[in-house]
Amino acid sequence: MTEFNRYYTYDEMTAQLHALAAAYPRLAKLESIARTFQGREVWLVEITNPDTGPASEKPGYYIDAQIHAEEHATSAAALYAVWHLLVNYGKDEEVTRLVDTQVFYIIPRINPDGAELSLQPPYHNWCGNGRFLPGADRIEGLIPEDINGDGFIVWMRVPDSKGEWKQSARNRDVMVQRQPGEEGGHYFRLYPEGLIRNFDGVDVKVEKPFDGNMNRNFPTNWSPQEYGAGTHPLSEPEAAGMAKFILDHPNICGMCAYHTHGGLILRPSMTRPDSAMGSRDINLYKEIGKVGTELTGYPTISIYEDFTPDKTKARRGGLMDWTYEEMGIISFGIELWDIERAAGVDKVGYMNLYPRTEEIQQKVYDYVRNHAPDKGWRDWTPFHHPQLGPVEIGGMVNIWSYRNPPEALLENVCRQNALFNLRHAASAPRVLIDSVTITRIEGSLYKVRAEVSNHGYLPTNLSDVAIENQVAKPVRAAIAIENGELVMNPQSIDLGHLAGRNERLYPWSPWGQQWTATSKFAEWLIRAKDNAQVTITAVSEKAGTHRLKRTINA
Ligand SMILES: [Zn+2]
Repeated sequence: MTEFNRYYTYDEMTAQLHALAAAYPRLAKLESIARTFQGREVWLVEITNPDTGPASEKPGYYIDAQIHAEEHATSAAALYAVWHLLVNYGKDEEVTRLVDTQVFYIIPRINPDGAELSLQPPYHNWCGNGRFLPGADRIEGLIPEDINGDGFIVWMRVPDSKGEWKQSARNRDVMVQRQPGEEGGHYFRLYPEGLIRNFDGVDVKVEKPFDGNMNRNFPTNWSPQEYGAGTHPLSEPEAAGMAKFILDHPNICGMCAYHTHGGLILRPSMTRPDSAMGSRDINLYKEIGKVGTELTGYPTISIYEDFTPDKTKARRGGLMDWTYEEMGIISFGIELWDIERAAGVDKVGYMNLYPRTEEIQQKVYDYVRNHAPDKGWRDWTPFHHPQLGPVEIGGMVNIWSYRNPPEALLENVCRQNALFNLRHAASAPRVLIDSVTITRIEGSLYKVRAEVSNHGYLPTNLSDVAIENQVAKPVRAAIAIENGELVMNPQSIDLGHLAGRNERLYPWSPWGQQWTATSKFAEWLIRAKDNAQVTITAVSEKAGTHRLKRTINA
């Protein structure tokens, strides 16, 4: 029984996946795409109805989760999608249609080594992916560690007349920023809980980890300057396994990479302003994003425009950069869970880097004390730090407050987002042969004409980026004749790309986006005997394969 009111360990999740695959052997196939540094398998579930055609001949939708170790809710969301597709097949119209006509590839936990570390006390905030133990990659500076042995890594507040923080006058648990020019109070410095490696007695350095941000390990725009980028693109076994799987499945049309937190649907570009993106691509991202916003309540925003604090330092080497900017696949990243929205705070910004007001912090504090009382908050407790002297240790447990929802809310978060995954998947292009007409010219000479259409929302090339980068393969129509022969035209005809209905966002106008064909035809002349069989096959890398058989009747 798969449950979504708790966070599964790796062994529990593995058992759930095996149980689901065993319960639905016709629809689900479980495989490992990589083995981690600590020897865990990275599971992928493929879901389709094989009776309606092989997976490779159907549009594919890809979901991955927990590339970042601490983002436990993401794994639940991806597991929910697996569960939802399997248990509702044959009952729910949308699920049945999608499992019949498409294929889903779902990786519920890309980074099981890091996740396993982060799921256990002391709840590390950054675990990498098992290449190093937390902190083992850092040379100097503050190494996060549970130094008072209470089972949690939280915060240290250190009395310091130079400090930028003070206690809220209303609630001494809440730390608020000291204002410019403000003097005369009791002030603090705030640091992550831990000891300082190679401390010079003066400056408490807090370095970025260099290990394990696999979402900077992908080949497009890869840069060694990004923290966690790895030694070279795809240096990490999990990222390499993902990349190989994606390249081996060119039928993938849509992707969702799950992250926490923020309650946001992230769309491209990672590196360019919207003004530098093609209008057709930006429109389709906005339109699909609107569906997501309706289903989840999450706003859809551009990573570069709204989620990059320093525009001169765009993120590099991320998954979406590779899958969209290079391959043209329609890719979203979803940041699950917004504690501020749950706590009744108005959304004022998307990146939570700036100091929060006293009022916002108080609301979040109240919410955590009420909804995550066991794991979300630690009372400030005096401690004698061997390097910094008397400090207090306590505050928010990031993983069980900001990063992941209380377990009671998990199922609803999963359901809303899985429904968006389904609707995004359903926007795939879908090539069908609408008709085959066979006309006798004379004797055994016939003209065969096939009308091929894209019935989907997206074009068969998915995006303009795919055309610009010359990765979009044309739709082809091919003929095979039993007891006959081809007289004129190539056996396989290049039909180019077929538009989707996304291009027709508004009624036709000479000033607007001009329409391109959603249907085209292919024609052949053949010689065939009575009762000869003719098979027409329409093939699109992204939009599936469709075959129709006809018999010649003289
Ligand atoms: Zn993340």
